[in-house]
Amino acid sequence: MNNERGFRILLTFASGLLTLTRIYYGKQAVQAGRTERTRPILVSNILLDLVGGVAALMTVLYILRPRWLAWARVSLPPVLRWVGVGLAALTVGLFLWVHQSLGRNWAMPLEQRAGQGLVTHGPYRWVRHPMYTTLTLWAIAFFLLSANALVGLAWLGLMVLVLPLVGREEAELGARFGEAYRIYQQQTGRFLPRWRD
Ligand code: SAH
Repeated sequence: MNNERGFRILLTFASGLLTLTRIYYGKQAVQAGRTERTRPILVSNILLDLVGGVAALMTVLYILRPRWLAWARVSLPPVLRWVGVGLAALTVGLFLWVHQSLGRNWAMPLEQRAGQGLVTHGPYRWVRHPMYTTLTLWAIAFFLLSANALVGLAWLGLMVLVLPLVGREEAELGARFGEAYRIYQQQTGRFLPRWRD
């Protein structure tokens, strides 16, 4: 199945599962409590929604109207497309695990859910930002799977927007959880597990 239609079907599956995961856990978190903002972050939220929306739109267009995006096609060997399939499956699994572990604490970056607890289990046992790591994997997977620069760059754009917020997110968690968070920081890696103690 090295044809475009096959890859489009696989991308549809991956996108559908990722979307359902976000809807399911996002709804649970929203029902669990309101979010608090420590700073006016409207601009970053709007930008994230906008770029996320564009990335989703590009993916839908690639699936439904591939000719419209044909100009951004990149020629990739089939083996790389299949690496993309594998990475997309990994992304789906990780995204589920991360959301399941973060549970009702999920919120947009720089927002905090009322009654937030510090999560240190699941992937958070080793990594402080597994969702952002998963998002990076997501961008690479979707690029390889679609072999389309526009699709890849749009998802990568989301990651580029999120990255500068990580330091502030950690500062907020530090202010909220104090010593417990500082100890947690020492025991974990930011995006990848620490290899040494
Ligand atoms: N940066 C994390 C979470 C992204 S969702 C990741 O990449 O996995 C953003 C929300 O998660 C913010 O409200 C942030 O305060 C919250 N958050 C981040 N790490 C957390 C943790 N260990 N426990 C509880 N909430 C956390």
